[in-house]
Amino acid sequence: MDWEIVIGLETHVQLSTASKIFSDSSTQYGALPNTQAGVVDMALPGTLPVMNRGAVERAIQFGLAVNATIAPVSVFARKNYFYPDLPKNYQISQFDLPILQGGSLTFFVGENETTVNLTRAHLEEDAGKSLHENFTGPHGESSTGIDLNRAGTPLLEIVTEPEMRSAAEAVAYARALHGLVVWLGICDGNMQEGSFRCDANVSVRRKGDNKLGTRTEIKNVNSFRFLERAILYEARRQIEVLEDGGTIVQETRLYDSDRDETRSMRTKEDAHDYRYFPDPDLPPLVVDSGWVDRVRANMPELPAARRGRFQTELGLTAYDAAQLTMQRSTADYFEEIVQHLPQGSAKPAANWVLGELAAALNRDDLDITQSPVSAQQMAALITRIVDGTISNKIARDVFAAMWEGEHNRDADAIIEARGLKQITDTKAIEAMVDQVLADHPAIVDEYRSGKDKAFNSLVGQVMRAARGKANPQQVTNILREKLDS
Ligand code: ADP
Ligand code: MG
Repeated sequence: MDWEIVIGLETHVQLSTASKIFSDSSTQYGALPNTQAGVVDMALPGTLPVMNRGAVERAIQFGLAVNATIAPVSVFARKNYFYPDLPKNYQISQFDLPILQGGSLTFFVGENETTVNLTRAHLEEDAGKSLHENFTGPHGESSTGIDLNRAGTPLLEIVTEPEMRSAAEAVAYARALHGLVVWLGICDGNMQEGSFRCDANVSVRRKGDNKLGTRTEIKNVNSFRFLERAILYEARRQIEVLEDGGTIVQETRLYDSDRDETRSMRTKEDAHDYRYFPDPDLPPLVVDSGWVDRVRANMPELPAARRGRFQTELGLTAYDAAQLTMQRSTADYFEEIVQHLPQGSAKPAANWVLGELAAALNRDDLDITQSPVSAQQMAALITRIVDGTISNKIARDVFAAMWEGEHNRDADAIIEARGLKQITDTKAIEAMVDQVLADHPAIVDEYRSGKDKAFNSLVGQVMRAARGKANPQQVTNILREKLDS
């Protein structure tokens, strides 16, 4: 494996404005075809676009969050091409003067923190949709319908430098970006509805080469899983072509999730093919510092700030803090737990949110905002671990019962009803330890002959005798004392 994969992502983030970027039509998803296509969206002659301030403000928010340069003046340009779902025959976008330049996003890939630099982000309108299924023409022939409801929906296209080196890194970036735009409230993040779509640019080169290879662009991947698979497939395909002595064609490809492969769609246009020019219908977009300040004043605490606070105020590791601030809803939930816990209990709270709770949510395909166990109920459970009433292991059973709705999800009631209180009475534990030592002389001999594993086995026996309820620290201490004396 002497190949290196190079990835740059372009992400289309649908901005959460009520109306479209250049018209007053609604952006509500799912309406009957063409019921939300006004005269501007249909490109009727004589109509003119009017910029939506809300879309600009969302772009500014994003720029502030990633430390981008916000252009004091940016320009809308026409990107010319013909397609049936684009009635103007051009898309209004931004070209050489986008609203945002530079900036970066820092996130974790597994245990490793990494930063990806952004090239730019620009505002543009979405096109309509061609409906290829279930349409027949006057002679029964299959045909295509056009739905212009989506035409003019505001998009922020966020472009990275070609800096990512694995499919896993690209997916981690996409997840972090998704978390951020949802956190800011500038995008609803709904990937099934197309509110967040990634184009992956992929190339490969021999390790050590400093020139980038020819890239292909995989269009419109709308799930993280498919993004990963599409990149893996495409990199493998390119390596095979090159190893067989072939060359890579710069082209646009489509990922087919049913077959788990990418297919050529069309050769890639170059920018000059689009005949970009400034749109004479729209004045340059002027964003002065006063406007930026007003936007900044209305922004929520940013993930990076919250992450820092979780580290300094609560003593969490950088990794835990980053995981907890991937999504605002998770950070909110976690903070609510901590508010109900004694000082210094943030670490077990983090472990529970990122471990047992995350697993249960994932298993039932729920968002944390839909968690059947509330943050307060969670805090009640963790309190009983922290104060030594139950062990972590028993707490998992209590949590499972809470999840199922037992005793109104009241941890104390479940502990009481099931008799799960931890045994902390030294005398009682000593008695159990003595019994185990008497019952397992062979293991005791093993321990004495230097086998450390034998010790764990004895701890296990005592815990079994206590049906999991003995305080593990006390068991360990008493056992050591008796064995080593
Ligand atoms: P467009 O796709 O509109 O032609 P660009 O040429 O600016 O735009 O590139 C778009 C994306 O492709 C960027 O994210 C960039 O990082 C990425 N990219 C450019 N060259 C390569 C390459 N050789 N390998 C992988 N990604 C690349
Ligand atoms: Mg592109």
